[in-house]
Amino acid sequence: MTATRAPGQPVVEDGVLISTNPASGAEAGRVPVAGAEAVNETVRRAREAALWWQALGYDGRRERLLRWRSLIVRRIEELARLTTLETGKPDADAVVEATAAVEHLDWAARNAKRVLGPRKVRTRLLLAEHSGHLEYQPYGVVGVIGPWNYPIVTPVGPISGALAAGNAVVFKPSEYTPIVGQWLVDTFAEVVPEQPVLQAVHGLGDTGAALCRSGVGKVSFTGSTATAKKVLAACAENLVPAVIEAGGKDALIVDADADIPAAAEAAVWGSMTNAGQTCIGIERVYAVAPIYDAFVSAVVEKAGKLRTGEEIGPITMPGQLDIIRDHIDDALAKGGTAVLGGSGAVQPPYVSPTVLVEVPADSREMRDETFGPTLTITKVADADEAVQKANDTPYGLGGAVFGKRNALRIARRLRSGMVAVNSTLTFVGMGNLPFGGVGDSGFGRIHGEDGLREFSRAKSITVRRGPSLLPAMTFERTPAQVANIVKTLRVLYGRK
Ligand code: NDP
Repeated sequence: MTATRAPGQPVVEDGVLISTNPASGAEAGRVPVAGAEAVNETVRRAREAALWWQALGYDGRRERLLRWRSLIVRRIEELARLTTLETGKPDADAVVEATAAVEHLDWAARNAKRVLGPRKVRTRLLLAEHSGHLEYQPYGVVGVIGPWNYPIVTPVGPISGALAAGNAVVFKPSEYTPIVGQWLVDTFAEVVPEQPVLQAVHGLGDTGAALCRSGVGKVSFTGSTATAKKVLAACAENLVPAVIEAGGKDALIVDADADIPAAAEAAVWGSMTNAGQTCIGIERVYAVAPIYDAFVSAVVEKAGKLRTGEEIGPITMPGQLDIIRDHIDDALAKGGTAVLGGSGAVQPPYVSPTVLVEVPADSREMRDETFGPTLTITKVADADEAVQKANDTPYGLGGAVFGKRNALRIARRLRSGMVAVNSTLTFVGMGNLPFGGVGDSGFGRIHGEDGLREFSRAKSITVRRGPSLLPAMTFERTPAQVANIVKTLRVLYGRK
C-alpha cells in the first residue's frame, strides 16, 4: 500500500497499520501488523491465560467482566469519540452502539453461571441407577474476527459470551477499525492486568486467515458472506467450529393497520442510521396498497430532513461508494424512480438519503447488500405478498413488521433469525435474545443463552448410584434380563 489514498483507506507502512478518518483523513492511530508467527505466538499466550481465567470460576470472571463494563460506561464519551474519529459515524450513533455493547457484557457476565454451570439432569427410567450431570466447558481460546461498521458492539457481543464462558480471546479487528479494537483490549487489561486474557492481532485479511489456522478452539466471524466462506474453508482444515454472522438484505413490512408516522420514522432510522452501514439495516420495505402512498410521503418527508455530515456520516470504507452508486444507477436504469436523492446522491465521502420506488426485483438494489443510506419501497397487495417478496432473498438476518392485528404472525413467517415488531433493529439491544441469521446471513448465535452455549462445549457425565436393574450395557447380561428389557420397553413405550 502507498500513503496516497482516499481518506479512511487503511495504510500499511513498515509493518505498521495506519488508520484514518474517512471524511478528513485525520489519523486515528497506528498499530503493529501481526504476521502468521505473531498470531500463533499470541494464541499460545492466550492458551496459558485461559487456564488462569478458567481457574477464577464463574464468580471471579463475573466480577472482572462487570468491572470492565463499568469502566466502559465511565469512559463512554472517550470510546464514542474514538469511534467517530475512526469510522466517521456521528457521536450519537457511537454512544448508542456502546450502550448495546454494555448490555451484552452485563448480561453475559451475570448469567454465565446459571446457563453453563454444572447441573444434575432428570434420570431416565431405563437407566434409573445412574444420575446424569451436564455442564458447559470452554473451548480454551476463541478467535473473534470483526467488521468495521459497528467496531464496538459486533466484537463485544461474542467477546462477552466467550469470556464469560471461560475462554481467552484473540481478537482481529477490521483493518478499518483497529484503534477502537485496541482500545477495547487495553481497557480490559486495565481491569484484568494479570494475564493476557483478551488480546488483539492486527492486519489485513491474511491476519484473520492466520487466526483461523492458529489452533484456536473456535472462531466467531462477523463480516461479509464472501469472506465467511473463506473463513469456513480455513477452519475446515483443522475442523475448527465457527459461528458466522454475515450480511443481510433486511425487509420491513407495513401492514394496513400500521401506525404510518411511526412506521415511516422507524423505516428511516432503520435504513439510514450509521449511514445505512448496518448488517441488520432495513434495505427493502413492502407496504400494502391501502397505506402505500401515505407511507411513501411520510418517509420522504422524514428522510429529506437528514443532512450529510450531521445525522448521516461518511461512508467508512471508500470502496463501498462505488457499490452504492452502482446500485442506485442500476435501479434507475431498470425502471425504478427516485422519490428522494437518487442519481448524484453519492458525493464522496457522503451519500445523501435516497428513497427509491418501483424498483424491479431483479435489480442489484433489491438483491445485494447496498450498505448505504438508501431504501426501496415496493407496493404489495397484502401481507401474504409482502412475506413472499421479503423472503425472496438468499439472506435471512433480521427484519421488521409494522401493524397491529397480524403483526406477530407475519413476523413468525419471515425467514430470518430476528424480527422487530413496531420498531426496527431493537433485537440487537436485548442481552437475553440470541442474535444470528439463516441462509447467506450465517449460522450459530451470539448474545443470550444460545450465545453463551456457542462458546462452550456440552459435557455430559453419568454417575452410577447402584446396581443395574436392567443390565443392558454389559456382556454379562442374561437372556432373561434381555427379555426383561423388552418387557419394560413395551410397558413404558409400547402403548399406541
Ligand atoms: P469483511 O468480510 O470484508 O471483513 C470482516 C473481517 O474479516 C475483517 O476483520 C477482515 O479483515 C477479515 N478478513 C478478511 N479476509 C479474511 C480471511 N481470508 N480470513 C479471515 N478473516 C478475513 O466485512 P466488512 O468488514 O466489510 O464488514 C461488513 C460486512 O459485515 C457486511 O456484509 C455486514 O452485513 C456484515 N456484518 C454482519 C453482522 C452480523 O452480525 N451478522 C454485523 C455487522 C456486519 P480486513 O478488514 O483486514 O480485511
